[in-house]
Amino acid sequence: MITIDCAGDGELALELQNYLKKHRYDAETDESSVMLNAMDTEKVLESFLKESNRTEYSIRKIDSTTLLLSKEVPIEDFGFLRCEMCGYVLSSEEELLVHRRAHGIQLL
Ligand SMILES: [Zn+2]
Repeated sequence: MITIDCAGDGELALELQNYLKKHRYDAETDESSVMLNAMDTEKVLESFLKESNRTEYSIRKIDSTTLLLSKEVPIEDFGFLRCEMCGYVLSSEEELLVHRRAHGIQLL
């Protein structure tokens, strides 16, 4: 039995349960978690995310019996910036400009 933790999102858990039932999986929901008895849980979850257009979600393995389904929040939403060269995260435009010089980029 695998527990799929929907990170407090009861709506997502319900939708996942309905999806699983539709595909004849043995699933139970407990608030924002879904308990699933399947061999290929990760594959099933990937299909669910794909079919429900939740491309911003990711599946994380917490331990051998728990998976976490969570939404990747873009760092830009928190006012952070990311270096497009290396992915380094900075908190201001100035820092980013200074950082970019490390890559040898000529500033206009
Ligand atoms: Zn960089």
